[in-house]
Amino acid sequence: MEHESVSHSVAERALARLPSGSEVSVTVHRYEGGAGPTAYLQAAQHGIELNGAAALRRLHDSLLEAELAGTVVAVPVVNSLAFDHDSYVTPQAVDAVNPNFNRVWPGDGDGTLQERAVASLWELIATADVVVDLHSGTADMLEHVRFQGGERDSRRLASVFGADYLMTDPGPERPLEEYTGTLRAAARLAGTTAIVPELSNSRQVDLEAARRGADGIRNVLGELGMLRAEPPDPPSQTVLYDDGGRVGADRSGLFEPAPGVAVGDRVAEGDELGTVYSPDTFERRQSVAATASGVIYSLTRESAVTAGEKLAGIAGLE
Ligand SMILES: [Zn+2]
Repeated sequence: MEHESVSHSVAERALARLPSGSEVSVTVHRYEGGAGPTAYLQAAQHGIELNGAAALRRLHDSLLEAELAGTVVAVPVVNSLAFDHDSYVTPQAVDAVNPNFNRVWPGDGDGTLQERAVASLWELIATADVVVDLHSGTADMLEHVRFQGGERDSRRLASVFGADYLMTDPGPERPLEEYTGTLRAAARLAGTTAIVPELSNSRQVDLEAARRGADGIRNVLGELGMLRAEPPDPPSQTVLYDDGGRVGADRSGLFEPAPGVAVGDRVAEGDELGTVYSPDTFERRQSVAATASGVIYSLTRESAVTAGEKLAGIAGLE
């Protein structure tokens, strides 16, 4: 490893072409230092998740001042189509097969528009040693970093990122094939270490979330030896299993969480989480109870809900 001052370059990369002939492209930043590993960073697979891009801008400013060993490649907005439509998913008009950008990795150069876009990005990932895929959740989701189940390096990097919660895939007995389609799973199949920070607050730039994102990436680069500064000891962390503790609305109506129920709470199966009321007749349509024991990591706040919609996510504890 050799730490050297950073040489920065920017390039546009064509990902796919729209029916009109317009190109879908992304802006790729490269920060090159001395000899060392390559880290690939990206944000905004989902168009309403803004804090990853805000974090990468903060990281950009500090990398220009830093001495770096290796190369950082950063794509702040990978899914411009969803971003420009202020939409979580990609507009159906351009890809009706699978509107979720994060379900088509590693892509297909002869496939749908998104599969082609992802296949082009995958060429950047294929040359990387480590991948950081930045997301953000709803305002009522515990900030956490996901790591690849059973992968020690991924877990170590997720931990040094510095969030209070880590999350991983369900128990190792589940076959890997069930997880394919996300970048995290595709990277795991390819033997590439990846982590997925889920910062707070979709739909708005949260200055603290952006700062935590930039700090977290610097911690990861420090742990890899790419930056000189060693990361601080992570806080005491809770490890959660994403084991499908999904609480859904059986009936449509207005959902009100029970008083005092909040993300981060530990619950037992059957505990009361809230009520779905009928907005017109005022009747109680559903008493909503925890479907599993664990930690509430996401919770719909006071809102109109449609039957089948997710009201809360419960994760198991390690
Ligand atoms: Zn996302």
